[in-house]
Amino acid sequence: MTNDIRPDIRTLSREEIRQGLAQHDDKKFRVRQIYEWLWMNACISFDEMTNIPSPTREFLKTNFTFYTAIAEAEQKSKDGTIKVGFRLYDRSLIEGVLIPSEDRYTACISSQVGCILGCKFCATGNGGFTRNLTVGEIFDQVVYLSKLAGYIRKPSDVNLNQLSVIRHSLSNIVFMGMGEPFLNYNQVKKSIEKITSGESLGMSPQRITVSSIGIPKMIRTMADDNPKYLFAISLHAANDEKRNQIIPFNLNHPLSEIISALKYYHLKTKKRITIEYILFAGFNDSLADAHELALFCRNFPVKINLIEYNPVKETDFIGSDPSVTRAFVNFLEKRNLVVNVRKSRGKDIDAACGQLTTNLLKSN
Ligand code: SF4
Repeated sequence: MTNDIRPDIRTLSREEIRQGLAQHDDKKFRVRQIYEWLWMNACISFDEMTNIPSPTREFLKTNFTFYTAIAEAEQKSKDGTIKVGFRLYDRSLIEGVLIPSEDRYTACISSQVGCILGCKFCATGNGGFTRNLTVGEIFDQVVYLSKLAGYIRKPSDVNLNQLSVIRHSLSNIVFMGMGEPFLNYNQVKKSIEKITSGESLGMSPQRITVSSIGIPKMIRTMADDNPKYLFAISLHAANDEKRNQIIPFNLNHPLSEIISALKYYHLKTKKRITIEYILFAGFNDSLADAHELALFCRNFPVKINLIEYNPVKETDFIGSDPSVTRAFVNFLEKRNLVVNVRKSRGKDIDAACGQLTTNLLKSN
C-alpha cells in the first residue's frame, strides 16, 4: 500500500487542475497544455511535459501524482494472443489481453482489481475484490495494448510513441477482463470518453463493447446515458436455476429483472443487444438449453456470441464438444437468430480472465 495523499492528476477535470495550479502558474493555456500531455500524448510522468516550465513541473510533481498501470509480465500464445500483467501504484495486479486475428486487433481490458461477484467459472471471481480502477489505469491498458498491436503490425519501422500508432492500431476494445464494468461505471464511462475523444485517442465508440453480467439498475442508468458504445450481456444460462449456480448475483436479481432492464435499454437506444453465452459441457449446452436461450432472445433484437470455454484450474467446468456446439448453433439458426461462435484464444497461456494475475500473485 502507499501513504501518498497527492491526487491522481488524471482523475481531475480541467477546472480542478486550473484551481490546483492557480496560485503557482495562472497562464491561460497551461491547463490545455497539461491536458494534451495527459490524454493526447498519453504521458505518465511530469518530466515528459517538456513545454511546461521547470518550476511548474516541480509544482505538479509535489502536488499531484499518476496512478499508472505499468506492464510487468507478458505471455504469448502460439495463436498470437498476448496476455499482459499490469502492476499498479499500490502493487496490485491486473491484466489485459491483445487478441490479433486476420483482420483485427482486439484489446480486452480490466475495469477492477478482482471482482466481488464470484462467478463460479471465473478465475477473477475466485480471487475476491480489491478496488476499482481509475480512468488513468484503464487508459494505460489501452495505450499499451495499442502500442503492442502497432509493433506487431509493423515491427521494423514503428515508433511506438507516435500518436498515430497509439490512435490507430487497435480495431476493437472489449471490457471483458477483470471486474464488472458496471460496478465501476463512472471511471469506465470516463475512460471511454477519453478513448473516443478527438482530444485523445479518437477511437470510434462503435468499436468499444462493455460487457456485463447484467446489473438491472445499471443497465437502466447506462440506457439513460444513451451510450454510443456497444453493450453485451454475459448470460451463460437462460433459466434462473442454472444461472443461480454459476452467477451468485442472479440469486437476488433473476432473469425477469434483467429482461425488463434490457427491454428498457432497447427502447431507449434502439440498439441490438449482444448475448454472450459460454458453452459448458453437460451444463448449459443441450438443445433444451438452446430452446430456453431462443425464448430469452424473443424479447429484443439480439446477436448471440457463443464462446468456447477456456478452462481455469480453480473450477471443474470444461468446454463443450465441437459436435455439441454445432447442434446448438443449428438449433438457434433455424429460429432465425444471428449466431457467432467465438473460439477460445490463448489456450496454452493463462489467457482466461484472471488467470495470469492469479499465477503472478502466487509467484511473488
Ligand atoms: S465473470 Fe466477470 S462479473 Fe463474474 S466474477 Fe468474473 S469478472 Fe466478475
